[in-house]
Amino acid sequence: MFEKILIANRGEIALRILRACRELGIKTVAAHSEADRELKHVFLADESVCIGPPPSTDSYLHVPAIISAAEITDAMAIHPGYGFLSENADFAERVESSGFKFIGPRPETIRLMGDKVSAIKSMQTAGVPCVPGSNGPLTNNKRQTLELARKIGYPVIIKASGGGGGRGMRVVHAEAALLSAISLTQTEAQNAFGNNMVYMEKYLENPRHIEFQVLADEHGSAIYLGERDCSMQRRHQKVVEEAPAPGISQTQRTRLGELCAEACRTIGYRGAGTFEFLYENGEFYFIEMNTRVQVEHPITEMITGVDIVKEQILIAAGEPLRYKQADITLQGHAIECRINAEDSKTFMPNPGRIKQFHMPGGPGIRVDSHLYNGYLVPPYYDSMIGKLIAHGENRSVAIARMANALRETIIEGIKTNIPLHQNIMADANFQAGGANIHYLEQKLGLK
Ligand code: ADP
Repeated sequence: MFEKILIANRGEIALRILRACRELGIKTVAAHSEADRELKHVFLADESVCIGPPPSTDSYLHVPAIISAAEITDAMAIHPGYGFLSENADFAERVESSGFKFIGPRPETIRLMGDKVSAIKSMQTAGVPCVPGSNGPLTNNKRQTLELARKIGYPVIIKASGGGGGRGMRVVHAEAALLSAISLTQTEAQNAFGNNMVYMEKYLENPRHIEFQVLADEHGSAIYLGERDCSMQRRHQKVVEEAPAPGISQTQRTRLGELCAEACRTIGYRGAGTFEFLYENGEFYFIEMNTRVQVEHPITEMITGVDIVKEQILIAAGEPLRYKQADITLQGHAIECRINAEDSKTFMPNPGRIKQFHMPGGPGIRVDSHLYNGYLVPPYYDSMIGKLIAHGENRSVAIARMANALRETIIEGIKTNIPLHQNIMADANFQAGGANIHYLEQKLGLK
């Protein structure tokens, strides 16, 4: 087992990783920027190293600084968390070639899944259902492209193979707009991702976002931990997540889960991962795989009892999976609200000093947050300041507990999106379950 792990991230996920390390008796190194000296996990870590100035390009994305921090502290492994360098294959390669263990998949797997065209190809080979589309990059043959779109049927979506974060996509509703949309997306993709490869998919008009959590070890075992519904989104960003997904049958769960676990075995996947699907009219369509821990992993932990971050560490240390598929049963329902330092109406970020912070409590409530009284939320990073998670024996109990927890939470000094979450929990259509990915924006009058 590792004696010491370097945490190459910040905020709530850095604290989450620290807690998992503590439980496993592993020492921790907090690698932090100059703006993050007062982060909760920096105080709690066994050691801390400042890796650079506030901008993330000079700190959390600065590979040599992170590797040096691991070297001077004698860390044995590096946990990248989510965001930042977590899905950067070159970083994973540098970590491993410098003699450390990267807590995540092999670099070649990250590379394979980071390129959407190659990810879709390998999923098709593994028998995972994908969105009908070009099954590869678009070529310069205009006649062929027009024919392809006609065959798929409008609307279609043009997507950058190297895209991410909801960028590099364009919906096309009619043939007249197709070729110009393709060249625009190619130019954008070249500028944003340094790769102009684009592909075409059928544009699904009212899908839900449903994703499957998997765990795989390096000895060929893989299991799935059920699914999450992340359809409550604004600008392709998840706002509320829940597990299990309302209305998904045990038969569907088993079928898709088995397919995902089998795909992991086929590609030699290692660690925690998520298969993201769009779900429409009873069918699942793979869109991408995330090769890291997700923000919303706690809701899966609440309904399965599996500590995903601890398992990531044990898998990276070479241990065989401690669970078999038959050990995994789903208990009740869990919901997560992402709490952001932002105005709940305009969504403008609102960093600043926390004057008062009171956490909610009671049965089934979990708070994953690095906030404390007097903490200064810096302006340089993502505005998420924590997550409230509510678990109950069924969905309505989970919603009622979340509503209570939101009412109990006091955060003074900055604006937060708690009013937005209260609005969602009280919404009749949310309460009914199964809303699609456009619902929240429509409800808020943003669409
Ligand atoms: P990213 O890596 O940028 O997050 P994804 O491929 O995961 O890109 O897509 C992000 C979002 O874009 C999806 O959650 C969905 O809202 C929308 N989207 C992507 N592909 C399609 C599609 N074929 N039909 C409809 N919506 C899509």
